[in-house]
Amino acid sequence: MSHELERLRKIVEECRKCPLWKNRTKAVFGEGPPNADIMLIGLGPGYNEDKEGRPFVGAAGKFLNKLLDSVGLKREDVYITNVVKCYLPENKATDEEIKACTPYLDKQIELIDPEYIIGLGNTAAEYLSRKYGFQFTSMEKMHGSVIKVSTISKEVKIILMYHPAAGLRNPPLRKIIEDDWGKLSHIIYDVRKEKM
Ligand code: SF4
Repeated sequence: MSHELERLRKIVEECRKCPLWKNRTKAVFGEGPPNADIMLIGLGPGYNEDKEGRPFVGAAGKFLNKLLDSVGLKREDVYITNVVKCYLPENKATDEEIKACTPYLDKQIELIDPEYIIGLGNTAAEYLSRKYGFQFTSMEKMHGSVIKVSTISKEVKIILMYHPAAGLRNPPLRKIIEDDWGKLSHIIYDVRKEKM
């Protein structure tokens, strides 16, 4: 499947389907193993991500690396991407921009076919709730929860988490995020056991 992902990456790099293309230095397609069991979805590229063309490389990315490390994962173990692929100067995407961009994310999920999808923040959670048909009430109520959804071919587990950037802005939230990730250890253990 990796050649199909690469083909999709090239399409995204040249995409002009919504006005956000005018903001970008580099589109941020996503990175990780094309057959990853765990996929992480954030909102969209910030300043540093836009410059490097890679997801989660700024301060929030460093925090995410620590969170992954805390459950025995490395970045290279997971596929990381965003709902929107071009720079969001104000960290917000309109409904039209999300609608224009999410067919790319739909295709990434189809090609990677992960067992677990971790939605980071409200925009990712809302996208996942629409895609898989569950109700997203609020991150306050649903953070850390595992939602099992059935697709045509299998059961996928969705996990909703606060976005790491929220933890940087709000120290009490940082502790909640660290606790939520701590609870993922048993899931990571199960994924590894299945692979052995
Ligand atoms: S944000 Fe998505 S839809 Fe809009 S131009 Fe970039 S890649 Fe295309």
